[in-house]
Amino acid sequence: MRAYAGFEQGPIRPPSEAESLLIRVNRNCPWNRCTFCSLYKKRKFSIRPPEEVIRDIDCIHHFIKRIAAGEPLQSLVGNRQEVPAAWSWYCSGMESVFLQDADALTYRPEHLVRVLVHLKERFPEVKRITCYARSASLARIPDAALKELAAAGLNRIHVGMETGSDKLLKLVRKGVTKEEQIVAGLKVKGAGLELSEYFLAGLGGTEFSREHAEESAEVINRINPDFIRFRTLHILEGQDLFPSNDMDFRFAPDLVLAREILTFLEGLGGITSSVRSDHGYNLFQELNCDLPGCRERMAAVPRRFLELEPEQRMYFQVGKRTGHLLRLDQLKETGRIAAVRDICLRNGVTPENVDARMHELMQERMRRGIYG
Ligand code: SF4
Repeated sequence: MRAYAGFEQGPIRPPSEAESLLIRVNRNCPWNRCTFCSLYKKRKFSIRPPEEVIRDIDCIHHFIKRIAAGEPLQSLVGNRQEVPAAWSWYCSGMESVFLQDADALTYRPEHLVRVLVHLKERFPEVKRITCYARSASLARIPDAALKELAAAGLNRIHVGMETGSDKLLKLVRKGVTKEEQIVAGLKVKGAGLELSEYFLAGLGGTEFSREHAEESAEVINRINPDFIRFRTLHILEGQDLFPSNDMDFRFAPDLVLAREILTFLEGLGGITSSVRSDHGYNLFQELNCDLPGCRERMAAVPRRFLELEPEQRMYFQVGKRTGHLLRLDQLKETGRIAAVRDICLRNGVTPENVDARMHELMQERMRRGIYG
């Protein structure tokens, strides 16, 4: 076991946890084999002993006390991460905590309970504690252990469903089946925890788009998660998404993506989930509402995109990817459209080449490490 090296945080958290304190219980991903995910590829998984995690919590508690007492920021000396972490959490109200990294449910439940209890003792005002977990880990954990975690203060689990299609789950090496995803989701809800399920638009490329949408809607309908969150596939050209398949992966152009999202939304039924499109890469960020009442209003978004004249559709595709447009409604705003038209003219973007050009743009951003 290596010696305590000080407070540490991992690389990511869901956008909905932007204001949360990040507490790292394990490093990287215990699975690390999903073909679409390169986040932890060169990093080794390890579990941090609960004593280390508790020291991290105490360290944040120490700095929060000093910040609350009015000490100037310059006088607070810590390692690179702990003072900014304490300061930004204090400024955002100290209401939520996110346990990192990829799969907190690989942590021994009794150790996680220790961490949760300590967090609650140190920060009784915290209202929400959440983490990522793999469906495979959730499917294995006993119901009683999950209930104990809920009783100790864990409120919500974020699960990367990605797809409900068994064929795709296997192709992208997600390490879980459709049925296991359903068992895991129902288990989380049965333990009284909130559940966020992520749908990864574009994962099936052109070939499996329809199956991806239909099977994913079926999984969601059987679970009825509290949240359905949209993500969009972004991988670098050359990344082998289907290594066990002879067929090359073909990126879904926006028309295919819009049809896929429409099929997914039309397939949802009999559920009360809140839908959130909370990532800048998503083509449609206006998909935010609570089911069942809003399904038609949401489906109208991709439907409208599909019915646009080619030039208008191109303006939206370019405007969305360049930050000039956030919603389809903004196609009416002449100032914004003038700026987008100018970009198209200067760069030779036409309705015929817009998908290829947007693909190039997104690839360039990924190479530069610009996400969102
Ligand atoms: S389980 Fe999550 S973090 Fe791990 S490789 Fe798959 S997508 Fe990436």
